[in-house]
Parts: sequence; structure tokens; C-alpha cells
Amino acid sequence: MAGYNSFIFEGHGTSEKTGAYDPGAVYGAVRENDLVDKIVTVAINYLKTTGLTIHRDENNYTDNDLGGNSYTAKAGISVHINAGGGTGTEIFVPSKEKYLIEDFKLVKNISEALGVTNRGVKSRDYNTGRIYMRNDGVALSYTDYYKEIRDAWGVGISLAIIEVGFIDTSDLQKIQANIDNVGFLIAQYIGKLCKVNINKPQNQEVSKDTYYRVVCGSFNDKVNAESRKKELESEGYSGVFIDVYKS
Ligand SMILES: [Zn+2]
Repeated sequence: MAGYNSFIFEGHGTSEKTGAYDPGAVYGAVRENDLVDKIVTVAINYLKTTGLTIHRDENNYTDNDLGGNSYTAKAGISVHINAGGGTGTEIFVPSKEKYLIEDFKLVKNISEALGVTNRGVKSRDYNTGRIYMRNDGVALSYTDYYKEIRDAWGVGISLAIIEVGFIDTSDLQKIQANIDNVGFLIAQYIGKLCKVNINKPQNQEVSKDTYYRVVCGSFNDKVNAESRKKELESEGYSGVFIDVYKS
């Protein structure tokens, strides 16, 4: 029994009840639970700067991680990696979801950060199995298909399942290269649910080792390069320099 502002769960993992480990989706040596563990660690670290109290847990389906706790935001997220050969980011939310605006933002931001398709905001009906593409602001009403979402809704909490991308396609490399970006976007989403803005430190937004050069000639002979440099300088351009490039 504890009080939190919100929660972030990792898809799958070790059960507190039985000790059994569920890796989630597996592709070669890569396991869904390991990937989301990295993402959630980043998100939690960003959230540490806010003073919010976030419940972090592994969501093994034999546990009821929300049980007995209280959450001021009445909402949180469970982070997963998809499998099955597709591509793109999607988010599954309760049929009666109250945070659709933030859901739309998150799935858009993550898909853009990865450079993959935005598969949208979805809900799924337990009774028919049908998947609904959500429209911003339009509420639906039925029993939710996914146990995580259903169990949370049963205790008055909105749980969104973010499927960052696919483990078994070219999405994987993009996810691995963007752990920090995805973790930050999830932290930002949780911050919004708790009415707190999180900004990425300025110096992390632009990679320090990337330079955009304006090239005005390429020569085999250094003398020719020198003479082009002088030419440009005499035209009034500053910052002209010779950079040696070996192909
Ligand atoms: Zn999963």
C-alpha cells in the first residue's frame, strides 16, 4: 500500500508472486523486457527532476501491481515492444480513455523520433475482439480487451499500453538508437498526466559532435585549395578553412 502520482510499468518481467520470468517478445538475443527496461530507466531518471513520485514496476501478468496503491493522476503507462513483422508505433488505451490528447501526442512524437509509421491510438473490445481507431475527443464504451487495461480500469485507473515499435523488423535498430529520446517522451507524457512540464536539458537536444559544413570546392592539390580560400576571403567571407578529407 503506497501513494504515488503515477506509474510506469515495463512489459513482462519477473513475477513478485511466483518468481517466474516472462521476457515478452524475443528476437534472437534481444528480449522485449530488456529493451523496455532501458527505456523505462531513462524515463524514470527524467521524472526524478520533477519531484513526482512514480511507481515503477515490471508488469508480469500474474501480479496485480496497481492493487492497493493510490495514484493522484489516476493514469499511467505500460511500455511494450511489438512483434509479428510490422513497423510503427501504436498505443492501446481504455475505451473510456480521458487522456486521448496526450495519447495522440505520445504516439506521434515517438513515431517521429524513430522515423517509423504512426499506427495511431487504438482501443479493443473484449466481447467482439474488434480494434477501434480512436478519434481525438470521442469516447467509446465497452469492456477492454487487454487484461492490463481492464484490471486497471476496474480500480478506476487509465492504463495505456505503448507499443514503441517492432522487435523483429528494421524498427529494432531505430529503437536501440533512440532509447534516450523514447524514454524522454514517455517521461513527458507522464509529466503531462501529472500536470508537470518536463523539458529536455538544452545541451542534449543537439548532438555536440554533429557539424553542418558549407563546402565550396574540393581539390586534389593543396595549392588550389589555398587559392580558393583566399578568393573567398577576399570576397568578405569569414570562417573559411581547409579540412582534409580522405576518401
Ligand atoms: Zn509486450
